[in-house]
Amino acid sequence: MNERSIINTLLDNRCIFCNSKDLLSQLPFICNDCIQIFEQKVREHLCQICGHPLNNGQCPSCTHLPEINFDSFHYIQIYNDFFKKVAYMWKKEQQHLINHLFVYLLINKHWLDKNRIITIVPDTKFQSFKKGRCSLGYTLKLLQKQGYHIKQQIYKRKWSILHHQKLKKQKNRIDEIEKIYYLPKENINKYSGKITLIDDVYTSGATANYGAKLLKLAGFQDVEVITFFRAIYDYSDKK
Ligand SMILES: [Zn+2]
Ligand SMILES: [Zn+2]
Repeated sequence: MNERSIINTLLDNRCIFCNSKDLLSQLPFICNDCIQIFEQKVREHLCQICGHPLNNGQCPSCTHLPEINFDSFHYIQIYNDFFKKVAYMWKKEQQHLINHLFVYLLINKHWLDKNRIITIVPDTKFQSFKKGRCSLGYTLKLLQKQGYHIKQQIYKRKWSILHHQKLKKQKNRIDEIEKIYYLPKENINKYSGKITLIDDVYTSGATANYGAKLLKLAGFQDVEVITFFRAIYDYSDKK
């Protein structure tokens, strides 16, 4: 037993997902089995653009975007029932340790670059206040502590009552997203170089794709999108 595991035993620390005491030394709230669920490789044949599993060699998802504005895209896992539970713990049960787990995974994947600005899909001030340590804003803060170059609110989110994204049809949803986010005039062509845009889930891609468009208008030449999860395209949404 190393020192850390003695401390964990004394404090009765357990894995937040399965209650095991066999904890990872770098993340003493997740066990050696559960971390593997997050780290396993996605084995399906995936679309090169949007990472969706291919259907007979075709991508059922990104063909619905009007144009692709991001240059590359990565995600940690496909959004299955287990990871939906994880997202629920994070957002609804305010389990902020999950944010530390995401940061650990992002860094371990070597997708981030200390010479590249990192930003997030913005919340309104009220939303980020309400979400506290369970927000992407806090993810960004944790990355900053690790020495990454971060920047918030390059483009912004308006106050909006249009929150029922899931109920809306694809076309309306794209229109709505274009009403929710905007680039302030003073940020047009203010920047240059490469940027990474982080979001929690990539569903239709409309949010990240429009974010990428605004970041290009802000002057960035290369926008990489990273999300924690990739939702499987909902065919019922297509009509
Ligand atoms: Zn566990
Ligand atoms: Zn695709």
